[in-house]
Amino acid sequence: MVIASALLVFSGSVCAEEVTSAFTVIIDPAHGGSDEGVVLSRGVTEKEVTVDIARLIRRDLEKTGKYHVVLTRDSDRDTSIFERRSAVKKGKPALFISIHVNAGFGSDASGYEIYVAGREMPPNENAGAIAGDMMRTETINESVRFARIVQRNLNEVFPREGRGIRSAPAAILDGLAVPGVVLELGFATNAANRKKVQEEEAGDAIARQVSASIREYFAGSGE
Ligand SMILES: [Zn+2]
Repeated sequence: MVIASALLVFSGSVCAEEVTSAFTVIIDPAHGGSDEGVVLSRGVTEKEVTVDIARLIRRDLEKTGKYHVVLTRDSDRDTSIFERRSAVKKGKPALFISIHVNAGFGSDASGYEIYVAGREMPPNENAGAIAGDMMRTETINESVRFARIVQRNLNEVFPREGRGIRSAPAAILDGLAVPGVVLELGFATNAANRKKVQEEEAGDAIARQVSASIREYFAGSGE
């Protein structure tokens, strides 16, 4: 259904081959509804910034005609972790990106952080478990490959403010069978970052760098 409508929209500008081989990417704007996330200023909250950036990333990717982009929420509504994870399990995207704005660590903390699921492996007892672990390792390696690309590209928006790639338990990522990252974009607790993430231009620049990173990731995936 989606592919068919994409063909109608893009038939004049790109070849059908590109459309039918579209990569599915799920973007997860964190928070929503009664869960506002961190408060920025003038009544602006994290839940609005995350969905704005997610929509801009979708716009950028869909322009290429090579991506099928799904948002876990496209309105201001309560969205549970369970619902978000179910969307990933059902949608089986080639890449999953959850978007937050950071807060804390004092007012000096600024920039962006990228989280990937932890590397802890359960003990292997049989071939099935080993195969499962190999798949998990591959998924984490691909997550790290994407994280490195986005870490480099976001430096354009937050020069010298990269806080690195962190491997940590994250309820939204753990155990998912697809490559995925959590992006923490800017700090609500830092005056300059707080201002930046609310500016239309900066939101646009962040979205452009994330979508460029997604294109770079798939260009290097050999698919
Ligand atoms: Zn958040």
